[in-house]
Amino acid sequence: MTAAIQDIRARLDAFDARHAPTGLFLRYAQGRVAHFWGRQVMTLLGSAALFMLAGPVPGFMAAVLALAGEIVDCGLLRAAPGLLAGGVDPARLSRLATVTAGFQAATISACIVLAWLGVPDDAATAFAMAFAAGAAINAGLVLPFHRDAALVRLVIYAATLAGLFLFEIMTRGHLSQRALFDLIATGIMGYAIHVFLGFVVAGHRRHTSNSRELLVQSLDLARANTHLKDQQREARNLSLVARHANDSVVMADPDGCIFWVNEAFTRITGYSLQEARGRRPSELLNAPDTDPAVSDGIAAAVAAGRAHRAEILNLRKDGALIWIETNIVPVLDETGVVEMVISIERDISSAKTHEAELAEAKIAAETGERAKASFLATMSHEIRTPMNGIIGMADLLAEAPLDAESRHHVQTIRQSANALLRIINDILEFSRLDAGKPVLHANVFSPCDCIGEALAILKPQARAKGLTLDLLIDGALPDRVMGDDGRLRQILINIVGNAIKFTLHGGVTIRASARSDGDGHRLQFEIEDTGIGIAPDRIPHVFDEFEQADTATTRQFGGTGLGLSISRLLAREMGGDITVHATLGKGSCFTVTLQLATAPDATPPPPDAVPPGLPVLAPRVVLVAEDNRTNRLLVRKYLEHTPLTLLFAENGREAVEMTRRHRPDIVLMDMSMPEMDGLAATRAIRADAPAQPHIVALTANAFASDRAACLAAGMNGFLTKPLRKDDLLRTLAEPPGSAPFPFPAPADLS
Ligand code: ADP
Repeated sequence: MTAAIQDIRARLDAFDARHAPTGLFLRYAQGRVAHFWGRQVMTLLGSAALFMLAGPVPGFMAAVLALAGEIVDCGLLRAAPGLLAGGVDPARLSRLATVTAGFQAATISACIVLAWLGVPDDAATAFAMAFAAGAAINAGLVLPFHRDAALVRLVIYAATLAGLFLFEIMTRGHLSQRALFDLIATGIMGYAIHVFLGFVVAGHRRHTSNSRELLVQSLDLARANTHLKDQQREARNLSLVARHANDSVVMADPDGCIFWVNEAFTRITGYSLQEARGRRPSELLNAPDTDPAVSDGIAAAVAAGRAHRAEILNLRKDGALIWIETNIVPVLDETGVVEMVISIERDISSAKTHEAELAEAKIAAETGERAKASFLATMSHEIRTPMNGIIGMADLLAEAPLDAESRHHVQTIRQSANALLRIINDILEFSRLDAGKPVLHANVFSPCDCIGEALAILKPQARAKGLTLDLLIDGALPDRVMGDDGRLRQILINIVGNAIKFTLHGGVTIRASARSDGDGHRLQFEIEDTGIGIAPDRIPHVFDEFEQADTATTRQFGGTGLGLSISRLLAREMGGDITVHATLGKGSCFTVTLQLATAPDATPPPPDAVPPGLPVLAPRVVLVAEDNRTNRLLVRKYLEHTPLTLLFAENGREAVEMTRRHRPDIVLMDMSMPEMDGLAATRAIRADAPAQPHIVALTANAFASDRAACLAAGMNGFLTKPLRKDDLLRTLAEPPGSAPFPFPAPADLS
């Protein structure tokens, strides 16, 4: 609120207070007190006249009476402001003032009676009437301020005159001609006083209302003035903001023709206000490559009077292309018709360039990712193929009669080859997990068997190091559960394997327990060893990829630092986790928790993962499609004492032809071969071979995607290289047609 508005508001409040009942009463009181002496002059003159006409006694009595009335009335009125401030009820005080007014009027009436009756021969009736008229006018003047006091006075004066005329008639027995004239004169005077007072009261009311109206109008004017100033200030600020904004501001009429642009527009587009005025932005700025759909969208939004946002390619005055983000806001008048269109535009060229760079970088990253995947697939194949030969031949050599030293050498070759294979498997597994979540394959299995299998694989290592390997089952484990037994085995082999690896004396204890949890079972394994332990500051990092507790560990024990991160990822994917407590030099305890579902009742008991003893083979014709000579030799060696008839093809095309010609029962199909690869050869066989064989992929490519591709091409099974004699025999023992053949997960191969 401005000072002017405050001032007028205060004046209006003061005015209203002055014209409220209490305010009027106070003004009445102040007026009566202020004119006290003026009225006393009249009283003195009247008393002096009576003194001369009626004698000293009536004159003196009139003076005393009039003065007494005034003193009582003014005494109260003088004290009124103080009484009101002291909390006296204003209405009560006003009523009291009416009474003192009546008393004062009565003293004046007494003076009139004295004059009327005290002067002989009716000589003073005119004087008494004039006295009464003067008092009545005096009383009537305060009508607007204290109506009751004024009316009481007027009634008393009128009643006094009426009483005197009545007294005249009663004492004389008739109304004399002179008295009649006096009565008529009194009536005329009374009427004149009535008109006069009416005029005075109406004038006062009019004046009051006009004064108030004037103040209210002044207030409205001051408010309007302030509002106008605010609007001017806002308009000035807005125009400053628009003029100096970093974004360009374009104002156009409803037809889209520009009538104002700011400096930023000139800076961004190169066009000045003069050059832009009267032209449409599309005429001025559209480039040949501007998308017409975007341009039409903007035009349609302007025509429809709706807000719109668009990104559009524009041409600067100097011919350079720029990307503009435009926000169009139509301004409507009170009837809803578009008054003007304001566009706020921003140069987003660098953001667009950045966006394009990001898209390119994303494509490059994806290409890199694809290249990495293909590199890994190739590496896997290239390393596993010779590994197949090394491990296979070492296995065969181990079966041969050897002297102690040669056997030791063969064992070393096998251990080293297996260690190398484990590293390759870890790296491949990790790169696969890195690219996405692990895929879990749910089977019904026995947790006891799964633990037993994992420990059977690790037992020889523990025994070789002179370590104990104990399994304690706390309570009972469920007979059958639903989950990925391969992944559980993988986790156990990794953690128990680590425990054996990092323990030099003592042993490893595995405690297994389970509890029912909702729909399934919560399995917990504690793998505790008496090994080297882990330093407290390294504990949080042992689960990080490629992290080892200390670099000396790598040198002494080997490893890639991937096993734990893979295991924890798998455990978490199976609704559990892996945690560790360890004391440096004393040992470590890894806790694995897993959530496994309850096996459905109808599911048959899990088949034995590994049938005891070597399977018995039926005489069948087996075609081995394999381009690598060593691998062909290996398969021949693995199967040399079996009743199988072996045929060999060196590429896919040969495999297809030989299948047509020899109709083998089983084809062991390498995936990657010259001339025609395994997948194409399988498709060709499935398309038109007269007798359909059972086809098992024989591949160094270990990815799940490879397995899926084999099945999609029409193969029935999948064996990964390095090929194990047992796996091969088991696969060949399956009756043809029982698809799919079971094949081990990468972890089983290690
Ligand atoms: P790797 O064993 O191949 O090095 P892991 O991810 O399996 O990789 O283990 C990471 C590191 O955690 C190991 O290098 C070792 O420093 C530490 N570690 C794991 N298990 C044990 C254990 N039982 N005792 C001591 N240290 C361990």
